[in-house]
Amino acid sequence: MVSDQSSVPNCFELLSAEPLIVVLIGPGGVGKGSIARALVEHDERLWLSRSWTTRPRRANENGSEYHFVDRATFERAIDEHRFLEWADFHGNLYGTPLPDADGKDVLLEIEVQGAGQVRAEHPDAVVILILAPSMDQLEQRLRSRGDSEEHVRLRLSSTPKELARGHELASFEVTNDDLERATKEILSILEELRQQRRNPSAKD
Ligand code: 5GP
Repeated sequence: MVSDQSSVPNCFELLSAEPLIVVLIGPGGVGKGSIARALVEHDERLWLSRSWTTRPRRANENGSEYHFVDRATFERAIDEHRFLEWADFHGNLYGTPLPDADGKDVLLEIEVQGAGQVRAEHPDAVVILILAPSMDQLEQRLRSRGDSEEHVRLRLSSTPKELARGHELASFEVTNDDLERATKEILSILEELRQQRRNPSAKD
């Protein structure tokens, strides 16, 4: 007798499930960084990319947030094709080095131009737009990071455009009204996506 195993993923399906590429986007101050860190703490299948940037380190940063480099070093890395994506954001360069994730799902926390590049290269990438509960909260959070008033204004002025592009790119939108709740919502989205990858015929 042949048993019906159609709903059980076979080893080939499991092996062929490509790692996810998960891209968190959202306006400055929305809390993407905190969410990204919470996600990797709770989900050991996620690998968080560490970006390169030419922007100076903030007083409240300890140096682990980015690989901080000068412009010449960044431009050399571009020429050497060492980035998955990169973008000029308000005059500073930011880039994702080619991932070295050892089969884990890749998590990126980047701005919208870069997310567009990742999507163009990897149409399967899952783009999640993080929203603030209100513009007032966003402004407060941006101001609390110690950036200059000029920089804060610049970031706020580009927010509507970033959000418009974000809505176009996003597969999911999550409001960061509470870090733990928003993190849980994203963890369950990822779980659902993994299930679908393991067993594509069982959608819906
Ligand atoms: P911040 O200077 O506030 O740390 O970051 C500015 C913006 O750059 C944020 O929206 C952040 O998500 C984004 N960003 C950080 N790393 C990267 C990266 O590797 N590539 C791109 N395109 N954007 C990044």
